[in-house]
Amino acid sequence: MVGQRVRTRFAPSPTGYLHVGGLRTALYNYLFAKRMNGDFIIRIEDTDQSRKVEGAQRNLIKTLEWAGIVADESPEHGGNYGPYIQSERLHLYREYCDRLLEDNHAYYCFSTSEELEENRQLQLKQGLQPKYNRKWLPEEMGGAVPSSEIARKIGEGCPYVIRMKVPDYVSVWFEDMIRGPVEFDSSTIDDQVLMKSDGFPTYHFASVIDDHLMEFTHIIRGEEWLPSMPKHLLLYEFFGWEPPKYAHLPLLLNPDRSKLSKRQGDVAVEDYIRKGYSADAIVNFVAMLGWNEGEGTEQEVYSMQELIEKFSLERVGKAGAVFNVEKLNWLEKQYIKNRPVEQIITAIKPVLAAELDKKETSMSRELISSDRYLGQVIDLMRERVGFEHEFVTFSAYFFFDPDAYEEEAVKKRWIPETNDLLREFVSALEAVEPFTAEAIESALKEFVAPKGLKAAVLIHPLRILASGVSFGPSLYHMLEVLGREAVLRRINKGMERIVVPV
Ligand code: GLU
Repeated sequence: MVGQRVRTRFAPSPTGYLHVGGLRTALYNYLFAKRMNGDFIIRIEDTDQSRKVEGAQRNLIKTLEWAGIVADESPEHGGNYGPYIQSERLHLYREYCDRLLEDNHAYYCFSTSEELEENRQLQLKQGLQPKYNRKWLPEEMGGAVPSSEIARKIGEGCPYVIRMKVPDYVSVWFEDMIRGPVEFDSSTIDDQVLMKSDGFPTYHFASVIDDHLMEFTHIIRGEEWLPSMPKHLLLYEFFGWEPPKYAHLPLLLNPDRSKLSKRQGDVAVEDYIRKGYSADAIVNFVAMLGWNEGEGTEQEVYSMQELIEKFSLERVGKAGAVFNVEKLNWLEKQYIKNRPVEQIITAIKPVLAAELDKKETSMSRELISSDRYLGQVIDLMRERVGFEHEFVTFSAYFFFDPDAYEEEAVKKRWIPETNDLLREFVSALEAVEPFTAEAIESALKEFVAPKGLKAAVLIHPLRILASGVSFGPSLYHMLEVLGREAVLRRINKGMERIVVPV
């Protein structure tokens, strides 16, 4: 393996959405390969035809691409292949299985599912770990079945599977890159089915054959595959192949440390995309589920490029990684805070324009086409939004005069004198020069002080009249961005419409 080009793979089964754990596996494989200037490949493991879901393959690849994980050798990279699809490679698995049959490492098994179940129940009753009872092990492999009987059954067209024969007493050992040495006792290993009766290989068989033929140097996958290692390593031994290096990633956990499950939150990457999370935040978040840069670093925000530069399997822990959605929300906010304003403008402009089409006022069309105005709104709202789409929902009043006012807030903030005070303050506002946050603030303070009133008497009603709602960014900055004309228009219009409580 010395000097060999690093090659890793992500090998999803097209059975539905992309699980966040799957995204982490794909990401770690990608980061590791890119860090080592190697190749990252996608292989679709669709040998279980009963679990195949229409459209899942396309969706998996689309979601990975959304996250910025693009496979080498794929058409997206100018390659001719990819993703590799196992159902298109059936002849290969059969060929390699025939080799194992010839070498007495595998045998035909004609046991029916009823027989297998009966045997299983019997073993369970005896307190044994259920294993195939080797009823069809041929004579030449130490069993009781003459080869003529096997030939007869095949000739009659009886359905069969092909099983590997696990040697009775060997211990299987390997060095996991994350867990260190791991050892298994072969007496606990079942005679794994390699080829199913429908002519398709099982996952175990196809993945070993492909991992070898596709020359992967490192297999990085979830901890749930650790128990399969002895079967996989035995297959390498049967073929006389050198196995790749393995790294089994820690489990993902709910905050209560149970295994991450749908019951406690979303597990499909698509759900997070739909909610408005950005690829930057998701990738950053998923990268930290089991990996950290090491002691002495406070850094938590990493771009894909930084991850590629810093990722290493040595820094992936063994302990389960807690999936903490608050951390993800925090990261999303960090990205929003630092995203270039032009990028946000490009993203929200079409959405605002579509909103506008519903309302149809020429005034807001002008505002939306002004990048300067959009930029001011974005900078004012950055700290207050959790998602990019909230720039649109929370900032609507920067583009449209309010057509309603929060009723509870009006009730709470209006006293009988409010409208008179506002009317008087409008004259002060007309004279504020320049119309900046600081100047507006001084004007308001100078207006209330001689009257012995608190600024709040006007601050709240002004906000409600200008925006329709009782919360938002700093009032003075908001008024500055809206501009004198809009502010005065909104106050006057609002006072006409708000019925003063008596
Ligand atoms: N198809 C397996 C899965 O769905 C891949 C396991 C492996 O990486 O070997 O997770």
